Amino acid sequence: MASIGFIGVGNMGGPMAVNLAKAGHTVKAFDLSKEAVDKTVAGGCTAAETVTDAARDVDVIITMLPAGKHVAHVYEGTDGVFATARPGALMIDCSTIDVDTARAVIAAAEKHGFPMVDAPVSGGVGGAEAGTLTFMVGGSDEAVEKARPILEKMGKAIIHAGGPGNGQAAKICNNMMLGIQMLSVAEAFTLAKRLGLDAQKLFDISSKASGQCWSLTSYCPVPGPVPTSPANRDYKPGFAADMMLKDLKLAQEAASRAGASTPLGSAAESLYQMMSSKGNGGLDFSAIIKMIDGEI
Ligand code: NAD
Repeated sequence: MASIGFIGVGNMGGPMAVNLAKAGHTVKAFDLSKEAVDKTVAGGCTAAETVTDAARDVDVIITMLPAGKHVAHVYEGTDGVFATARPGALMIDCSTIDVDTARAVIAAAEKHGFPMVDAPVSGGVGGAEAGTLTFMVGGSDEAVEKARPILEKMGKAIIHAGGPGNGQAAKICNNMMLGIQMLSVAEAFTLAKRLGLDAQKLFDISSKASGQCWSLTSYCPVPGPVPTSPANRDYKPGFAADMMLKDLKLAQEAASRAGASTPLGSAAESLYQMMSSKGNGGLDFSAIIKMIDGEI
């Protein structure tokens, strides 16, 4: 069993850290929020007072932070992980951040002699609690194989996406597809309503026809057809529209730097930005149908 320092134990990191403790690992948790740390202590972790405290004398350091600037600061800052960790400690960043920062931080880790992977997740808070996340992992073969047994205690699928930063690349490409597909389903159901076509009928037909996709069959944005979808609980997330907006912005920044043409990704970003600016970013991202339909 490993000793682990877990930094950033919010909505996602908290239950991930608790699952590692439940699996028998020794987990020190640190967060700027004491309340977040206290929750993990109730779940079997111990409290660390600082980043230094969490990173000192452990085999593995895991981070689950909001954005690239937090990740760069926590690893590269004066009292950061690189300045504190024991030689050869494994580092795993599970945050969703921009590809360039992920690659720069991993390059710096390798310079210091630390194996490191980027390992963003799909599956949301439910997946973090149930230990069923999907990890998209970027890094050297050696670093990924070291990280695999740890990630397996938090997720059901661990997919090596390629070299450093490729986990982040996979995450933003996947979520750009998701954002666009949700809009396509939302527009189709809005048009169906105006044409007098029952939502359940459209679902029954399209879920067996060529319009079929996850946003329709697992996460339908109208109440009824998929009882577990957020549409049936007043669009309580789930996956908040502001989180979708964050990922669409990351995709657009990456596309612009890489010279990739992503016109629908760009349109999706504008629409989710509009939803957020109207004060609805805390709703599930599938509530975009209410904006398309003129209800919010
Ligand atoms: P969150 O805001 O609940 O948690 C982030 C935590 O990081 C907070 O508790 C914050 O206090 C802490 N933090 C920030 N700076 C810190 C620092 N310098 N030192 C220590 N702690 C610090 O967010 P979350 O929902 O847990 O998301 C975390 C990451 O996971 C994000 O990158 C997000 O995009 C990604 N993600 C979230 C979901 C989801 O459904 N919530 C799904 C997939 C991926």
